[in-house]
Amino acid sequence: MEFNIALLRGDGIGPEIVDSAVEVLKKTAEKFGHKFNFTPYLIGGAAIDATGKPLPEETVEGCLASDSVLLGAVGGPKWDNLPGDQRPEKALLGIRSALGLFTNLRPARLYKALKDSCPLRPDIVANGFDLMMVRELTGGIYFGERGRRQGKYGEEAYDTECYSKMEIERIAKVAFETARKRNKNVISIDKANVLESSRLWRATIHEIAKDYPDVTCTDMLVDNAAMQLVKNPAQFDVVVTSNMFGDILSDESSQITGSIGMLPSASLGSAKRGMYEPIHGSAPDIAGQNKANPIATILSASMMLRYSFDLEKEADAIDAAVDKFLELGYRTADLAGNTGVTPLTTTEVTEKILELL
Ligand code: NAD
Repeated sequence: MEFNIALLRGDGIGPEIVDSAVEVLKKTAEKFGHKFNFTPYLIGGAAIDATGKPLPEETVEGCLASDSVLLGAVGGPKWDNLPGDQRPEKALLGIRSALGLFTNLRPARLYKALKDSCPLRPDIVANGFDLMMVRELTGGIYFGERGRRQGKYGEEAYDTECYSKMEIERIAKVAFETARKRNKNVISIDKANVLESSRLWRATIHEIAKDYPDVTCTDMLVDNAAMQLVKNPAQFDVVVTSNMFGDILSDESSQITGSIGMLPSASLGSAKRGMYEPIHGSAPDIAGQNKANPIATILSASMMLRYSFDLEKEADAIDAAVDKFLELGYRTADLAGNTGVTPLTTTEVTEKILELL
């Protein structure tokens, strides 16, 4: 099969980690007989320097014309003093909205080989964990009506959580489809004991669940979910939740893996095309030093194969190469910490993963 991939390398370590993932994609294509065409476009600080805008029109058009987008990260001290709407990070919201990406998929997985980096007690994570957070990305309280007014006690401010049935239906479908590619278990998180929007959320999730009889679906209140994530994270397979609850819980779930350089993400819309990126930023403190851990970006490329191109075997092969790399005891600087293991450079990590693929 042939796919066109737009590359948004961005700033800081962005170019190093994207280039590493491209090498892995090229080797995967060669091994499985596919063709991936890569076209780079400017975004973030690099785009500001070249064109004066964080998200040039050409970048948006290129991404819209591609089968999927692989992004590094944007931002850095050089552009920190620009006004809010001209900053590199503004490009992220712009490209997400231009591509109509309403879902954020964030896997959080504790690799057995990295158990020592996990901040949870060893007996809690004895069997590791592997969950997928499906967060609604374009609705809810972050986009609802808001304002300031005079109230009973003087000045007050308000934000509104509002979800349409359509928005809940489409995110529910993503969650159930995702569960079909995993362990067929969805836990939907809400606050239906208090919030009307959560009651519509819960009822709609149950309606959609009927179309997926092969997937188990249960509800959990958000306060309980926050506790369960640190008490027994292995109970979760796919978690589906609203924008704000997902914002908070996805950070909690990534934190308990203990390794920011390992975590990929996907943003999806109603088209097959998605945008895939590591959850970390541009790490200006280590940019250009060949020290960055490229694994989060390599795993983002694997998610692209799985979710946008339906290339399951190929994605499994990349994930297995990463597993093997860790099991063999190789580490990057962020993972090695004070363990005494000599860390590999970005280039060396890439070479090892290519060997193992
Ligand atoms: P960061 O994630 O870039 O870095 C936090 C810490 O983690 C740093 O010490 C960094 O060296 C380390 N780190 C991050 N990724 C790593 C990797 N792959 N390998 C090894 N170490 C890694 O967060 P920050 O320092 O708060 O932000 C830096 C810049 O990135 C800012 O301009 C911020 O706005 C931007 N940012 C961009 C995105 C994005 O593009 N999606 C996300 C978050 C932050």
